[in-house]
Amino acid sequence: MHTGEVVAANRPLPVVSEDGLILLLFGPPGCGKGTQAAFLCQRFQIPHISTGEMFRAESEAGTELGKVVCAILAKGGFINDDITNAVVAARIARPDCANGFLLDGYPRTLPQAKYFAGLLRERALPAPTIIHLHVPDADLVERLTARRQCPSCKTIYNLRTQAPVLDGLCDHDGTPLVCRADDEEAVIRQRLATYRELTNPILDWYGEDCVRTIDGTAHPNHVESQIESVLSHRARKRLGLGLVFS
Ligand SMILES: [Zn+2]
Repeated sequence: MHTGEVVAANRPLPVVSEDGLILLLFGPPGCGKGTQAAFLCQRFQIPHISTGEMFRAESEAGTELGKVVCAILAKGGFINDDITNAVVAARIARPDCANGFLLDGYPRTLPQAKYFAGLLRERALPAPTIIHLHVPDADLVERLTARRQCPSCKTIYNLRTQAPVLDGLCDHDGTPLVCRADDEEAVIRQRLATYRELTNPILDWYGEDCVRTIDGTAHPNHVESQIESVLSHRARKRLGLGLVFS
């Protein structure tokens, strides 16, 4: 139902679909997924649904399902596929999803992916557009190990993109910056391996024809335009139209 009323300041908005835009965004830690998710949701006026947001929203809504989620989270427990699927089914039925939505962090397992495909069919929703941001591990390690934190005021720096004015010292209080345990190379490599172990079977299941792999090493603005061109191309194919600008 994107009719093109929403116009970003600098570029025309392609008409993506008449029946809503469902985006699944995949990418390893450090790939810039958060930046792209924010851009896409703002541009297409769709909600950004992460699993954390979904679980919180359901708990706050106080539904029976929300109470179950709340009890598991309170104990620091793990939310299994069945409950996660039920929460997704409830979340995407809300009115703010009428024009589509972006899912970030779901599906996380193959059973979730299969359930979600069935759910879309059952509700006669359009097939999702699957965007995979690809960044080689070496680049991710370089990006993620560049993070430093001030142990005193907790400000986060990045030696590549947001370095402190004085080498190794906090801009606010001059405290020597440290590398957090989470940001050490071995930990990062383990997180990346875990991510790929979980995600590769899902991407394989969707297949090369469905997954649009985007080079995430480019400048964020360039990544944005690559994603937009994928969406426009899809719209042309579906609607049998040239690009329609607002
Ligand atoms: Zn500081």
